[in-house]
Amino acid sequence: MTEIVMQNLGRDFGDFTALADMDLTIGSGEFVALLGPSGCGKSTTMNMIAGMLDPSHGEIRFDGRNMNGVPMAKRGVGFVFQNYAIFTHMTVRDNLAYGLRAQGVGRAETDRRVGDIAELLQLTPMLERKAAGLSVNILQRLAIGRSAVVEPAIFLLDEPLSNVDAAFRAVMRAELKSLQRQFRQTMVYVTHDQLEAMTMADRIAVMDHGKLLQVGTPLEVYNHPADTFVARFIGAPGMNLLRGTLRGGDTGHTVDLGAAGHCPVPTRQGGEVLFGFRPEQVHPDAAGPLQMTVATVERIGARTILHLAAGEHRAKAVLDSETPVPDQGEPFRFAVTPDDVRLFDPETERAI
Ligand code: ATP
Repeated sequence: MTEIVMQNLGRDFGDFTALADMDLTIGSGEFVALLGPSGCGKSTTMNMIAGMLDPSHGEIRFDGRNMNGVPMAKRGVGFVFQNYAIFTHMTVRDNLAYGLRAQGVGRAETDRRVGDIAELLQLTPMLERKAAGLSVNILQRLAIGRSAVVEPAIFLLDEPLSNVDAAFRAVMRAELKSLQRQFRQTMVYVTHDQLEAMTMADRIAVMDHGKLLQVGTPLEVYNHPADTFVARFIGAPGMNLLRGTLRGGDTGHTVDLGAAGHCPVPTRQGGEVLFGFRPEQVHPDAAGPLQMTVATVERIGARTILHLAAGEHRAKAVLDSETPVPDQGEPFRFAVTPDDVRLFDPETERAI
């Protein structure tokens, strides 16, 4: 287990800044996901942690030791990429044992550890098979096992599940989490998939355009997004954001949403705001203060997603499939609990 400290870490490629002034501490044994859209600087950060790329400025420390200039082989990191690097002419067993043999681990110990990791990753039935010809799902599982078996102090995974199919991804999310619990390694996981980050990570570092926007537990970033980007990026669908005007009155504050109505909010400040609420926090209510028209009804098994419109406003509501919903083109009245409302400054896009 190793603590990773990134201080004022940055990387430029010519005039282009791929990562700007990152300050992030990843605790010993912690599982942190670097989450953001393509090109936001996740892999650049990861490659600097691994020692494959030098920072333009700033520092990376492992347990207080400055890693700048220390080669990858001396950092004690295991790295799994999106494109698994497996020796296809070898058996699954030999692939798993490769790193342990290279370290000079004895035969009995190697057999025990290969057996354990194969069991954990459900590779036991194919231990004697050649890797060539195995499915993408199994090869990716093998790539993870091959890195994990040497029990590196730091385990880095860069989009390890993006090539595998959806059903297998769900299985692997659970397996990776239990793998990390078992070994208590410090784990850094790069993904653009908020569901992967939400389900596995102890904390999520949300990035965009080379900047770290927010770091928090999955529930912190879900419930208290620092800005509108995080609000939209976390959640599926993301948070609704409607432009409105906050007005004070004798009976408290309300946000005036024009064609969509008014909603009371527990706040102090007046003026233009972005009124944020999660689609899951919409309560159908015939006497509710908000009203929008149903543009589309999307039924996805246990849930129904209503696509709503009112003047310029667009929003989504996620309801239980048992809940009766109006037809397309009909009005939909609803309420949002004032404590669930999040307000953002429309200029800076930061949370108020
Ligand atoms: P993806 O998932 O698409 O890889 P990412 O968030 O991991 O996205 P990075 O790979 O870190 O993003 O890249 C960040 C930005 O830096 C991108 O715009 C990319 O084009 C640029 N970049 C990365 N490596 C280089 C390089 N060697 N030379 C020039 N630009 C680079």
